Amino acid sequence: MNAKVYKLPKKKECPSCAFEVGENETHCTICNYEFPQKKNYDWRVVTAIILIVVLSYFLTGSF
Ligand SMILES: [Zn+2]
Repeated sequence: MNAKVYKLPKKKECPSCAFEVGENETHCTICNYEFPQKKNYDWRVVTAIILIVVLSYFLTGSF
């Protein structure tokens, strides 16, 4: 069986000049358009906040 998986290179289109640049690029290679950066959630902080809320709920015991 030929089970080769062909990976397509991920690309995004520049909204300024419609040129396709690599997904990891922060700037367009043609017009130097700056792509908006996705903010990375710090999941440890989110988990900690959820834990504190849940713990305080159980500790207070009041509804
Ligand atoms: Zn561009």
